[in-house]
Amino acid sequence: MHELSVCLSLLQQVDAIARERGAARVTRIELKVGPLSGVEADLLRNAYPLAAAGTVAEHAELQISEAPIKVRCNTCGAESEAQANRLLCGSCGDFRTTVVSGDEMILQSVELDTGPAAQPAD
Ligand SMILES: [Zn+2]
Repeated sequence: MHELSVCLSLLQQVDAIARERGAARVTRIELKVGPLSGVEADLLRNAYPLAAAGTVAEHAELQISEAPIKVRCNTCGAESEAQANRLLCGSCGDFRTTVVSGDEMILQSVELDTGPAAQPAD
């Protein structure tokens, strides 16, 4: 399952951040997912608890927002937002465009609980 491996690599990043800051727990993860990234937000949400079980982010709230698709026109050079099924220049309507964003998944922010590590992490 693709989304599970996406979750696992995401959790590796989150875990590294938590360790770096000495956090006992991760309380919230904010993700931005581009429509062209091939990642389904709903599937990601479903896969998350499975992937996060037993990690510092087990009880973290996962927030996923959709990133806009932006294209740069190869003809007029304008940058504009576009639809996933219609990557046209918003300025001149040319179809010769290059996707500049919308095909990635970004770990936007991680909220950590850095309070006294009273509970043993098990
Ligand atoms: Zn154009």
